[in-house]
Amino acid sequence: MSDERNRVAILGGGPVGLEAALAMAETGRPFRLYEVGESVGENVRAWGHVRLFSPWKMNVSPRAARHLPESTLPGEEELDRCPTGAELVERVLEPLAAHPKVSAGIRTGVRVEAVGRDVLLKHEEIGTGARSGSPFRLLLSDGEGREWVERAGVVLDCSGTYHNPNFTGDGGIPAPGEDRWKQRIHRRIPDPVRDAEEWEGRTVLLVGGGHSAQTAARDLAASARNGADVQVIWALRRADASWRPDPYDPLTLRSALLREAREIVQGGAPGVEVRKGVVVERIRGGGRPGPDGPGLKVELRTRAGSTSEVEVDRILSLTGSVGDHHLYRQLQVHECYATQGPMKLAAALLGSSSEDCLDETGHGPETLANPEPGFFILGEKSYGRNNTFLMRVGWTQVEEVLTLLDEI
Ligand SMILES: Cc1cc2nc3c(=O)[nH]c(=O)nc-3n(C[C@H](O)[C@H](O)[C@H](O)COP(=O)(O)OP(=O)(O)OC[C@H]3O[C@@H](n4cnc5c(N)ncnc54)[C@H](O)[C@@H]3O)c2cc1C
Repeated sequence: MSDERNRVAILGGGPVGLEAALAMAETGRPFRLYEVGESVGENVRAWGHVRLFSPWKMNVSPRAARHLPESTLPGEEELDRCPTGAELVERVLEPLAAHPKVSAGIRTGVRVEAVGRDVLLKHEEIGTGARSGSPFRLLLSDGEGREWVERAGVVLDCSGTYHNPNFTGDGGIPAPGEDRWKQRIHRRIPDPVRDAEEWEGRTVLLVGGGHSAQTAARDLAASARNGADVQVIWALRRADASWRPDPYDPLTLRSALLREAREIVQGGAPGVEVRKGVVVERIRGGGRPGPDGPGLKVELRTRAGSTSEVEVDRILSLTGSVGDHHLYRQLQVHECYATQGPMKLAAALLGSSSEDCLDETGHGPETLANPEPGFFILGEKSYGRNNTFLMRVGWTQVEEVLTLLDEI
């Protein structure tokens, strides 16, 4: 038990969890990293075919660069090239997980189901400092029905958001029928090459207006242009959706995507019909027979209340994602009521004037502290609904948390 009390538990083996693991190893802190996927980088793999906006020079932390083998580190000539998610996994995340300093602490195929404290409930020992005397208690499971408990003195929740997509229905809640028809609702950016057959011969309702939906619209439109039989109806909540690319954007792939998405909404893509200013009101079955079974009848509604119905084979819902907050419901975590990020960091983010991820840096160690001593939310999850997170912010957060651990 005393070993467990000294241990740092890291939830999630994405870019930030692995950075944290390396930092713990370097500073001689015992740790265990739990990753639900069969190998690390599960969330990044899920969009592995997509090219990052950030180039190689922004995607390898100085700490990782010190430990990665020469053979996988991007060479001088690659620094300005943007890798795909799959390349990031293969050249950075997997080699980091295999590093001798780190590998013994990694547990893949293990899901963290819940985190509490031995003996204490959420409402007990408020502000007395006594909670830190009781170790964290982690309920873990594997894919084969086994459940067990491990303990830790510190928990770093780096579990990301991508596996926890938002609903499709208006107001961010499920539309009537959303659960009934969930098998026909896809929530990941399709790979136009690998998944080509899956989309062939189908009419698709694409819901969402962020970068993921823009990427899907661009790729499906390109497939249609290249002869694929795919029809897209793109439902955008904003009536004025028409993104303005910045010609001086240093992230050139980002401005290119915005340009292409803008052309599509302005009517420039055969095979894509754009409906602006609509939300998904209801999903029903009973349409004409299609490759996936009877078509889905989806009711769309405008802000003014008028409705229309579209009939599609499937829905591609790319409406963003948010971290799993149930994991720590028995801990004293103060969340922002608007963004669901941890309160101090959320306040710092709300106070910052820019909405560009490139302007993001760490906001200081104090913004990572929670009322729950020894519990920290890092990485993409720490940004709640704010979508300006970049991996390099995660590296800074890990540095900041190290200074806090020195005080524990
Ligand atoms: C399409 C797309 C493009 C992007 N492009 C960029 C870019 O160009 N540059 C950039 O910096 N960022 C980009 N991002 C954001 C990027 O995803 C993050 O910067 C990065 O992956 C965040 O790392 P993370 O470790 O915080 O979370 P994640 O990468 O999401 O990792 C979290 C890990 O936790 C695991 N996990 C979740 N729940 C549990 C649990 N209960 N128990 C155990 N394990 C769990 C997951 O399987 C996952 O492996 C992009 C995101 C998307 C979706």
